[in-house]
Amino acid sequence: MIDQYTLQNPVTQYPKASPRMKQQQPSPGLETEMAPKPDAGEESYRGTGRLAGRKAIVTGADSGIGRAVAIAYAREGADLVLSYMPEEEADAKEVIELIQAAGRKAIAVPGDLKDEAYCEQLVETAVKELGELDLLANIAGKQVFVEKIEDLTTEQFDATFRTNVYSMFWLCKAAIKHMKPGSTIINTSSIQAYKPSPGLLDYATTKSAINTFSKALAQQVADKGIRVNVVAPGPVWTPLQVAGGQPPEALPKFGEQTPLGRPGQPAEMAPAYVFLASAESSYVSGETLNANGGTPTP
Ligand code: NAD
Ligand code: MG
Repeated sequence: MIDQYTLQNPVTQYPKASPRMKQQQPSPGLETEMAPKPDAGEESYRGTGRLAGRKAIVTGADSGIGRAVAIAYAREGADLVLSYMPEEEADAKEVIELIQAAGRKAIAVPGDLKDEAYCEQLVETAVKELGELDLLANIAGKQVFVEKIEDLTTEQFDATFRTNVYSMFWLCKAAIKHMKPGSTIINTSSIQAYKPSPGLLDYATTKSAINTFSKALAQQVADKGIRVNVVAPGPVWTPLQVAGGQPPEALPKFGEQTPLGRPGQPAEMAPAYVFLASAESSYVSGETLNANGGTPTP
């Protein structure tokens, strides 16, 4: 079994991109319909009690990186409120079963993060159903490839900013009111924040905004004992990429340009989110942890 605990060569730990990866689904895409299937650590992630008793919200929890983080957080001992879109119920069902199998609470609250009232409802549900809220992992994101600025609509530009930036703002704002010292917030940026692809104009711009927002907010809430950090993944095999995130013809080479020469898997992202959530990272705030296959970052 591939896992994160055995010494092995990271170059060959997971497969390189291949022609099998050329596929397309309508947005938002379902993990249950992908082949090859991403590895979210379903079979492999081992918890060691690092988040025992924690009460968390995870957005984008049905698939990809959010799924891997939800599984890891539950196996580390956290109870969870899960955010995802109503049309992703098939993916979410699998995640809910895995969380329950870990003996933790999984409260499903599907909805649209572009809506401020839904973001507030997520926080209220966490406080009501879990008793408190001390961990917010903003992982949901929208990425739609558009080659030319002439074809990038105001509707898409707005939806990308609402999904990636506004929802983070609304959720942080609502969550911080309830957070006691020791609580942690983790936002999700991307290698796109530093090395933007020309066809990801709107998306890449939101990802640098997320880094900057997190560095400012981390300073603002430091005296409350709340830490804010960021994970910036590189190319990771998830539904986002096969549902309009990349032109399908680019998928057979996905991740090839990284120093490790292959795409990452969601299972390789989750440990970064666990580290930044847990008290192990107590002296780390305002930081971006890049998990990108070795590409240098500023
Ligand atoms: P994914 O498609 O599995 O997850 C994205 C999730 O965002 C969806 O499952 C969906 O539930 C949620 N979402 C999108 N719009 C929403 C809305 N309006 N309301 C509610 N939920 C909504 O893909 P992923 O790659 O795991 O993406 C997770 C995060 O990782 C995103 O922030 C993405 O930008 C970031 N990221 C991904 C990669 C990559 O290569 N996959 C690289 C860098 C950063
Ligand atoms: Mg999904």
